[in-house]
Amino acid sequence: MDIQNLKKEIIYYGQEIKKIGLVVGTWGNISARFEDKVLITPSGIPYEKLSEEDIVICDLNCNIIDGKHAPSTELIAHVEIYKHRRDVNAIIHTHSIYASAIAVTRKNIPAIIEDMAMIIGGEVPCAKYAFPGTKELAENIIEVLENKNAVLLANHGAISLGRNLKEAFNVCQILEKSAKIYILATQIGMPKPLAIEEVEKMREIYLNKYSKNEIIKN
Ligand SMILES: [Zn+2]
Repeated sequence: MDIQNLKKEIIYYGQEIKKIGLVVGTWGNISARFEDKVLITPSGIPYEKLSEEDIVICDLNCNIIDGKHAPSTELIAHVEIYKHRRDVNAIIHTHSIYASAIAVTRKNIPAIIEDMAMIIGGEVPCAKYAFPGTKELAENIIEVLENKNAVLLANHGAISLGRNLKEAFNVCQILEKSAKIYILATQIGMPKPLAIEEVEKMREIYLNKYSKNEIIKN
């Protein structure tokens, strides 16, 4: 995919996360890796008003290479994730309601349901609280990230990762669904997490079978 089409995809998924209620206003942000650069949404511009020239291009030291606006204030967290995870090429940060509800309790979401195990890779950890946009927040995310595709940010929201934007968008949706199921289940009793071996088996099936065609299409 060329850089122009990647910018178009960022805008498309920005509008999608707003449409399905994972963010409100200009909150949240989206980025994608392009070679050794990061393309990221600008700070404070509504998703529905974004055009390709508004997407900011930075290097992996957070220097702006091209763009007429300031990048998202969470740029440093995006860059640190790309540096730590070579498999990740897209990141979507949302403030979705159910994931945020769990994030304010500063608890992890246990691996409770099949699609969560497959797409996210198991339990979703909650990163320790730090002020938004800081290096400390980026460090707290890296501290718990391991090989997971989603992390909760204490008293803030969530961050979802993928090999491409389509996959990161799926992760956002499955994360929110899992958070909702977890909260609902706690009203009835104590949710029982899947066994680690089961989670690993499901993840393996997703990576080696289910996701193959979908990823190649991108
Ligand atoms: Zn945020």
